Amino acid sequence: MEKANTAAKTEEGESYNTGFCRFCGEENHTGFQSFTTQEEANDYVTAQCDCQGATRERNKKEEQKKYNRLVEEVIAKRKWKAEQRAEIAEKALETIEELFGTGAEARGVISLDGEVLTCIGGVAMLVYDGLLKDCTLTVAENVKCKLTNRKGALSIERADASKQKEVNAAGIAWHWNSTQHENETGLIHHEWVWSVDDG
Ligand SMILES: [Zn+2]
Repeated sequence: MEKANTAAKTEEGESYNTGFCRFCGEENHTGFQSFTTQEEANDYVTAQCDCQGATRERNKKEEQKKYNRLVEEVIAKRKWKAEQRAEIAEKALETIEELFGTGAEARGVISLDGEVLTCIGGVAMLVYDGLLKDCTLTVAENVKCKLTNRKGALSIERADASKQKEVNAAGIAWHWNSTQHENETGLIHHEWVWSVDDG
């Protein structure tokens, strides 16, 4: 097929308003669009062409776009998760400080060394990550720290033994002191007191 010279002189230079499909070679008008190079006009005509090759090419590009979107989503989700985890780790340390560190000191209950607090923070994150199952640490005599992952929310609890009379069948009585749930950070922390029957 003889390919017509479709270039037309304009004030700005040449403009092309006819192109050829790169797959079937069919010539087509670019309608209201005009292009400064034949290549661009060909691209335009190819993108509009209904032939098998052009259609396959379009589908391939569409698939590639979908795939790229998916990859972007996965990366964004991972980034968000990493950010969220860092926030949880920070909040966990603050909570541990409050329950077992300076906060405990201020309340006049047993407090722990900074080094121990950091360790508890590390264990808490292992529980958060699911690498450790819920765990209870005896951090001092009659003081326990319970770390739980509740469907993605990290729970940090402190339990102090006291000699209350009220006990359950297992000989242990639980008394809730306070519960706080921070929805935004997915962190649950509460303080509670447990008592052992001395009899
Ligand atoms: Zn075509």
